Amino acid sequence: MKDETKCLHSGYQPKNSEPRVVPIVQSTTYVYDSTEEVASVFDEPTKSLIYSRFANPTVMAVEEKINALEGGVGAMCTSSGQAASLMSILNICSAGDSFISVSEIYGGTINLFSYTLKKLGIECIFVKSTDSDEVLEKAFKENTKAVFGETIANPALTVFDIERFAKFAHRHNVPLIVDNTFATPILCKPFEFGADIVIHSTSKYMDGHAVQVGGVIVDSGNFDWTNGNFPELCTPDESYHGIVYTETYGKAAYIIKARMQLMRDFGAYPAAHSAFLLNLGLETLSVRMNRYCENAMAVAKYLENCDKVESVTYPGLESDKNYPLAKKYLKGCSGVISFVIKGGREKAMKFMDSLELASNEVHVADIRTCVLHPASETHRQLTDEQLVAAGIDAGMVRFSVGLENIDDILADLDKAFAAVDK
Ligand SMILES: *Cc1c(COP(=O)(O)O)cnc(C)c1O
Repeated sequence: MKDETKCLHSGYQPKNSEPRVVPIVQSTTYVYDSTEEVASVFDEPTKSLIYSRFANPTVMAVEEKINALEGGVGAMCTSSGQAASLMSILNICSAGDSFISVSEIYGGTINLFSYTLKKLGIECIFVKSTDSDEVLEKAFKENTKAVFGETIANPALTVFDIERFAKFAHRHNVPLIVDNTFATPILCKPFEFGADIVIHSTSKYMDGHAVQVGGVIVDSGNFDWTNGNFPELCTPDESYHGIVYTETYGKAAYIIKARMQLMRDFGAYPAAHSAFLLNLGLETLSVRMNRYCENAMAVAKYLENCDKVESVTYPGLESDKNYPLAKKYLKGCSGVISFVIKGGREKAMKFMDSLELASNEVHVADIRTCVLHPASETHRQLTDEQLVAAGIDAGMVRFSVGLENIDDILADLDKAFAAVDK
């Protein structure tokens, strides 16, 4: 099946007289005829349902759909994108380990990696995506267990050189984990370029309607966990009557361990109702992504030709420094653009407040156009000098293009730019 078809049909195929739409199984638990059967469920927890803290039929239908879209061997949904990032690392790193991440990633992930994981004894070593091979090699340590990056970085909008970092990770016998939130599998399938694990915040384009927060981890099944670096996956798990994940589950060892061990213990699993809503979003993902790309390209070109704009960042523009990587990895550059207004903070705020159609909110990837002014909102604690050091201009606006008619979006921009000088 092609992506458009998978969006509609993967994960749930009703049989004779069953509901057309995936049912919401709103139940914490599942009933069995005998004690013996319940006992056997504990021996084979992947075959039957036990408890909705780590498995539920509605959520599993969505997991299978996302897995099919990414081309993996298994997926596990989480209650947020943050929970997906956390568990993707905790599944292979313990106290005393380190991992490498490029620094061009989502701010919430930077907090998680630099502060919270550090408290658990796991060190994140940050490198720049543009660092030379020598610098990357030097960053690698004896205890390094993974490499992490974002396909299209939020908010930097840099494009991750997946093949280069996959080769780097594999040279050191560790997996590459890619956050594919902004691209979605419609615009990029990181497994095709050598990534081993993909994660998403499904709160963004996958849901698309700004109705629920969620995340997902997908396993390519391609990484060899028996290479000596990952004893937790290939020696007996005492918390699961001595099961050896690589022996019992083969290619799906990573994702099954994540569910049976981490999800069992942390319980950051989505509710059935949230998964139902996510599934509705996924059904139209392909159609929506293509339209986001079209609208964003038109807005980026408009901004590039606007005399009130100092600079535009959108990897789909030929003038963008990430254009060559975008050409290689992406079928489209998604819906988020950042640009700097001439005249700094004051003009940017005037512009923002003069928009009528685009709403001022702390979100991206909504079905409706929305804007954010980092200098006075998400990064407001920084001085103008600190903002410059962080690569954020006081006049920078992050513009998340929605699915409105492009003429209406451009008319709104025209009006707001005209109001800036009044
Ligand atoms: C929003 C976001 C996250 C965090 O996801 P939540 O669902 O908000 O927890 C992680 N990565 C990227 C790229 C994001 O945009």
